[in-house]
Amino acid sequence: MQLSYLSEPSVLYNLQYRYSQDMIYTKAGPVLVAVNPFKKVALYGNEYIKAYRNKTMDSPHVYAIADSALREMKSDEVNQSIIISSHYKGPTGILKYAWLSVIQKLGLESSPLPTDAIGTHQPYNLIYLILFFYMVHHGESGAGKTETAKIAMQYLASLGGGSGIEYEILQTNPILEAFGNAKTLRNDNSSRFGKLIEIHFSTTGRICGAMIQTFLLEKSRVVQCAVGERSYHIFYQLCAGAPTTLREKLNLKKVDEYKYLKQSCCYSIAGVDDAEMFRAVTEAMNIVHISKEDQDNVFAMVSAVLWLGDVSFTIIDNENHVEITVEEAAETVSRLLGCSIEDLNLVLSKRHMKVNNENIVQKLTLTQATDTRDALAKALYASLFEWLVEQINKSLSVGKRRTGRSISILDIYGFESFDKNSFEQFCINYANERLQQHFNRHLFKLEQEEYVEDGIDWAKVEFEDNQDCLNLFEKHWENKGGIYNWLITMDSGFPTKKPLGLLSLLDEESTFPNATDLTFANKLKQHLDTNSCFRGERGKAFTVRHYAGEVAYDTSGFLEKNRDLLHMDSIQFLAKCKLSIPQTFASKMLAQSDNLESIPYRPSVADSQKLSVAMKFKGQLFQLMQRLESTTPHFIRCIKPNNLQLPAIYGQELVLQQLKCCGVLEVVRISRSGYPTRMTHQKFARRYGFLLLEDVASQDPLSVSVAILHQFNILPEMYQVGYTKLFFRTGQNRQCTDLLLSS
Ligand code: ATP
Ligand code: MG
Repeated sequence: MQLSYLSEPSVLYNLQYRYSQDMIYTKAGPVLVAVNPFKKVALYGNEYIKAYRNKTMDSPHVYAIADSALREMKSDEVNQSIIISSHYKGPTGILKYAWLSVIQKLGLESSPLPTDAIGTHQPYNLIYLILFFYMVHHGESGAGKTETAKIAMQYLASLGGGSGIEYEILQTNPILEAFGNAKTLRNDNSSRFGKLIEIHFSTTGRICGAMIQTFLLEKSRVVQCAVGERSYHIFYQLCAGAPTTLREKLNLKKVDEYKYLKQSCCYSIAGVDDAEMFRAVTEAMNIVHISKEDQDNVFAMVSAVLWLGDVSFTIIDNENHVEITVEEAAETVSRLLGCSIEDLNLVLSKRHMKVNNENIVQKLTLTQATDTRDALAKALYASLFEWLVEQINKSLSVGKRRTGRSISILDIYGFESFDKNSFEQFCINYANERLQQHFNRHLFKLEQEEYVEDGIDWAKVEFEDNQDCLNLFEKHWENKGGIYNWLITMDSGFPTKKPLGLLSLLDEESTFPNATDLTFANKLKQHLDTNSCFRGERGKAFTVRHYAGEVAYDTSGFLEKNRDLLHMDSIQFLAKCKLSIPQTFASKMLAQSDNLESIPYRPSVADSQKLSVAMKFKGQLFQLMQRLESTTPHFIRCIKPNNLQLPAIYGQELVLQQLKCCGVLEVVRISRSGYPTRMTHQKFARRYGFLLLEDVASQDPLSVSVAILHQFNILPEMYQVGYTKLFFRTGQNRQCTDLLLSS
């Protein structure tokens, strides 16, 4: 079903009607809308795959998108991308929409919302309470991006490639999910990293390899996790599923005995058997050629991270200085990592510093030692994740065989807006601004530019441009009058204005040793207050007007998270460990940091860490956008119809809000009035010219095109003739083709 001719109310009506019939996919112009069913739907498997391959089925589906990506890759010889995204709204929204959902579900008359959590609407209070309880324990869930990405991968993999490479590609999912997904209040299997998988095809159109790139793993989860959520699945899977010999070797305890896991009071996921998952993960590791020995190292690291959390400290003087307590935790960590207890004690209780060019050793206080321990745990886990991705890439690498084209699938965190938004949301929402701009460019800007360039009649459709918000992040030009700008920087003798975006201000502040989150917040207010997308708030807060809505950020922890420093002592410690994964990781970092003197504000930090998290992320994002720009994009917007993770509950308001934010309604508008199908005159003439009754051999392609259209009485309102191309309204190409073929 195409929604191209439909207006907003009917779009909504149709989505809901189709959802009630388990038709969770709907096309809105070129965009596929996928509404999460929260239950098994009979839409997948070999029969369906075959039907889409053979074109005996053409209703909207991820398979159909993957299929057209494949076809276009072959016919146009252009790389393709499938961009899967979603949009979240935070807890305040949840209550409201969950409330509406229940009212609707129970067939109750819609009632105004209580203004406070437990309002005065007596009959509904109980429902409200139950609902609140339910949400806290089950949480809202994901929109279905990762599932959708896997469904697309399945379709592509079903093409086969020989040598089992397609199976290997699918098996990367359980591994990356075990190490990079966790149960959150919103989703039992929430991806805590962004992912791009590029699937390579040989010139004969068969899968020959793949490459995975990941973005911003949420490291903090390893050491800190909210009540009701879990840390990464692998911790629980290992503890539940390790066979006895491994269990003894790694000295594994029960999950509720580890400090890092205990703090959230949540150990299991309804309907998930962690022990079984552990077997699936090790099996998947076998398939992507991670050797038994390497697997042992991986699990040793997982166990070491857990035990590191249990390392405790003894205070040795009245200044709160500490040493590690030598007991089971410290002993296990040193055994697993392959280091001496002395070295472990040294790295956790002392720090080498350079002050006025003199080396000094500083004793650490309890808080400093605990922070150092947690930083080490995070670094260990992050290096493990990085190593796994590297290993997977080696195994899937096509090396020299790579000759053909590729299809990339992007599964990246959606826009986030919670009651409290921190550095993580800041980065995620910045990424979403970039992706939204890419979406806008392709569906509105480039589309309309093409109409104008080719000289067809066209009334411009306006769309929500987010350039201003992107500028706020990347290059805000301070607007304080000419002379002020002149004074800011002098570049090779000529005065230039200095772009001051959120990102560069954050970076600048992160290099000042005495800066605090408050000085950072004040700096933002001082420089960015003239930007219409920015609003300074009281204290340490600021608000950004994103394309998807306003988000208030709290700068607490911004600087530290952005610096993400691992002290030189910790790096040198890891480099000395016998366990190969952290050892290689640390040695690499050391090799990159020859020139320590060049970092004025961070005397004890490796050079390789000069780039802050935000800058690294920006670099990755630019690279990603560059890569995506060279592909033909296919967009899938995932929609969460309720926040209860339950089937058959459809919150109209919640859906409408998501559709609005991700630009789908505008796409419907432009598709309705636009000409989404087009073909060059040459191609059209070559394809259909032979059907003409008159001889046109001597005529130019444009005239041939027009003659064909006339001969077959195609209604003039259904197409326009451009200088170089024919433009058809939705669906006309197929009708035209059918018409021609049947004649
Ligand atoms: P996050 O941003 O937190 O990673 P996400 O958008 O990736 O979330 P998923 O993990 O893909 O969300 O989906 C959440 C849950 O919704 C799945 O675990 C599954 O239970 C259900 N779900 C999603 N898509 C489908 C589908 N097509 N069929 C059946 N269930 C689905
Ligand atoms: Mg996900």
